[in-house]
Amino acid sequence: MVLTVKCPICGRPVTWNEESPFRPFCSDRCRQVDLGAWAAESYRVPSRQEDEDGGEDNR
Ligand SMILES: [Zn+2]
Repeated sequence: MVLTVKCPICGRPVTWNEESPFRPFCSDRCRQVDLGAWAAESYRVPSRQEDEDGGEDNR
């Protein structure tokens, strides 16, 4: 008896066991896509210029 789920990114069936270390995603790529989806949102703040010539060093 094999349980499968659908990859939330591409919709491929993913076997829910040790063969699928990236479940519920079908692959590392799809997992990265999902992580990148919200990461890109938070990185897309208009503060890039401050990074370029920012006088404050966080270290
Ligand atoms: Zn996928």
